[in-house]
Amino acid sequence: MKPELDEQLFRKYPALYCDRHADPKITLMCFGFECGDGWYTLIDVVSELMTKHNSEITAIQVKEKFGTLRYYHGPVDDYSIAVEQAAEFLSSLICEICSAPARRNYDSGWISFLCKEHNNNYFAEENSSINSLNNSMFDLGYFWSEMLLKLIELCTLHAQQNETPPVLIDANNIHGKLFITAVGGDDFIKGAVDLFVAYANRVDECTGLPIEPKGEKLG
Ligand SMILES: [Zn+2]
Repeated sequence: MKPELDEQLFRKYPALYCDRHADPKITLMCFGFECGDGWYTLIDVVSELMTKHNSEITAIQVKEKFGTLRYYHGPVDDYSIAVEQAAEFLSSLICEICSAPARRNYDSGWISFLCKEHNNNYFAEENSSINSLNNSMFDLGYFWSEMLLKLIELCTLHAQQNETPPVLIDANNIHGKLFITAVGGDDFIKGAVDLFVAYANRVDECTGLPIEPKGEKLG
């Protein structure tokens, strides 16, 4: 990540990134945010939720691994683990270079998630699930629809792994703001929903591109 963006995150969340310039023997955070600039907004949203949830949480390592974002931190609980895992899931929809909607890219055995412009193997297939989603009760833009499908996938996986009843997800676009309700969820589902909603409300619902907050430069 560009030094300016790295510094911006460090300044905005000093407690969370208190080890940013610490000894490499203590933390891997000393290597900074080891991923592309396209995930800046996603890391910003994760940082905001973690800080709000528990002021004792500190980041240990933030990096790209197997194409997606990995966010290691301590101490952990169900909510913070959910935020971290939801960010990993969501990062597969976001170009690591420029934040535009991404698809999986294989290049010489290397996996990455990149947009049409940065992905040589981009296959812009018509996503029939998104079409059926938009023809149903939801009225969401393209990127928010992709996000909703990803969230449903994560919640389904969580219910299967924990042998709990499926979570019912409802989404509403109210005056351009996304609201999601999850019926039957636990702390993990709450963390995942919070991450998806917070990110959705920082990006354009159709293009998926971040909306620059006042006074903040995205590079
Ligand atoms: Zn891109």
